[in-house]
Amino acid sequence: MIKVENLHKKFGDTDVLKNISTSIEAGEVVSIIGPSGSGKSTFLRCLNLLEVPTSGKVWIQDQDITDPKTNIMKVRQNIGMVFQHFYLFPHKTVLENLTYAPMKVKGESREDAEVKARDLLAKVGLKEKESAYPNNLSGGQKQRVAIARALAMEPKLMLFDEPTSALDPEMVKEVLNVMKDLAKTGMTMAVVTHEMGFAREVAERVMFLDDGVLLEEGTPEEFFSQPRTSRAKDFLEKIL
Ligand code: ADP
Ligand code: MG
Repeated sequence: MIKVENLHKKFGDTDVLKNISTSIEAGEVVSIIGPSGSGKSTFLRCLNLLEVPTSGKVWIQDQDITDPKTNIMKVRQNIGMVFQHFYLFPHKTVLENLTYAPMKVKGESREDAEVKARDLLAKVGLKEKESAYPNNLSGGQKQRVAIARALAMEPKLMLFDEPTSALDPEMVKEVLNVMKDLAKTGMTMAVVTHEMGFAREVAERVMFLDDGVLLEEGTPEEFFSQPRTSRAKDFLEKIL
């Protein structure tokens, strides 16, 4: 699904990602963890070219997205992204938030888009909120709408950047549960998270980024019980 080869990213003179090579298989759920400022968001954003790599290559479903000839808008239609701060359309209802892109970008009829949107809202437990506006929802509800909105485009791949970091503690679980359900459907997911419970239980693989380097990669069992580097050990000691 994703292949990354010698990915390097500089901001000015600073090397933010250093020669990252890895791949993510279809259906795989990968957690990306690491200290603040280690390059996790930048890495994720390079996977859909929200950040342009300084050098190196990224393939999404065998398409080299770093090749200027690739139609990135087309590739992005297959990639859903969920951010810490939701970014819902504030002046649209929940239902309109979900139907907007499928109608506008994919040319779906309103009728089809609404049927699909209602089905997705039911799946994230927000059936009764279709006419609400984002400002009248809790953080957890907003994030579930954001996930449903991304899914309305029927992506092949979902990228999550700290989807629960802006939430009050009591709302974290409802969002993680939606993500767990999504993982069970076979969705390919790359999740930047500080939720070690999610990384342990749901992810098949953990990537540990430190100072722009992909320092460790392994199953959650390997990573959490036997981190290989002292950087990873220090990180785990601080957060667990
Ligand atoms: P993380 O998500 O792991 O906290 P980021 O990917 O956001 O890390 O940032 C990695 C490094 O790149 C940080 O030092 C950050 O300050 C820097 N950085 C991120 N985005 C930009 C930008 N647009 N311009 C300059 N520096 C940036
Ligand atoms: Mg970040």
